Amino acid sequence: MVKVIDFKDKVVVVTGAGGVLCGYLATEFAKAGAKVALLDLNQEAAQTYVDQILEAGGHAKAYESNVLDKANLEQVRKTILADFGAVDILVNGAGGNNPKATTDNEFHEVDLPEDTNSFFDLDEAGISFVFNLNYLGTLLSTQVFAKDMVGRPGANIINISSMNAFTPLTKIPAYSGAKAAISNFTQWLAVHFSKVGIRCNAIAPGFLVTNQNRTLLFDNEGQPTARAHKILNNTPMGRFGEAEELVGGVFFLADENLSSFVNGVVLPIDGGFSAYSGV
Ligand code: NAD
Repeated sequence: MVKVIDFKDKVVVVTGAGGVLCGYLATEFAKAGAKVALLDLNQEAAQTYVDQILEAGGHAKAYESNVLDKANLEQVRKTILADFGAVDILVNGAGGNNPKATTDNEFHEVDLPEDTNSFFDLDEAGISFVFNLNYLGTLLSTQVFAKDMVGRPGANIINISSMNAFTPLTKIPAYSGAKAAISNFTQWLAVHFSKVGIRCNAIAPGFLVTNQNRTLLFDNEGQPTARAHKILNNTPMGRFGEAEELVGGVFFLADENLSSFVNGVVLPIDGGFSAYSGV
């Protein structure tokens, strides 16, 4: 028998929860009865979502947190333990790209103008930043929070991969590689924790408009860029996704009744983008 989704009294930790997608997910978890810890470098941004959750009668708290600083994460874990109790569900949402790890052009050409940021100009620090934020940030957060999840009924981890983990997108080699690593790590964790009751899955969102990609998708006048047109042409459903369209997939993966035997999957939520060859 299919059971109703219910996260009542589950403790959910969401990293990157000051951002558009994870702030939205955190709010939805709270609406579904969870006690939600919203972690972000930008505590103010996370607090905005917390204010809305509290106003609606939910349980949530914002924590200033850096997913690349293990000592800070350990400290935050202790505070959450005191505030809400042990973690049941971890959403590793902190992630993103960096302009220094992005080429100006899709294809390299001879005689590019001198001011072009080509593959050969990509900045090592920018590339490390992207790999660290997406991969290491997910790994460190999992090290810290999964400890309390060992043997906890229904415990699970949700990572955020991306379309470019399946096939890399042009211009963003570091972000594509880092998200491919996240998909791989999701499978690794699913296997590694399989004997102690922690499931690990990921979602791979297609193209949703957020702060991270707004300037790539719209020009100063708010019109879709050439890249945005290309994305829409390659998304069979012909539109960008909305944050709310991630919720069903995330809830399915996080719910111990609905997906108790689902482990190590990367679920595309992409309007068909990853299924389409473009022909
Ligand atoms: P966003 O930029 O709106 O939010 C990211 C949040 O992470 C920000 O609030 C930022 O302050 C926080 N953050 C950055 N560095 C941090 C650190 N070191 N420690 C803690 N927090 C940190 O981005 P978003 O679009 O909401 O993305 C959320 C996740 O979804 C990311 O992992 C992103 O890569 C992934 N994703 C987004 C899309 C999309 O279309 N927007 C598609 C696929 C995957």
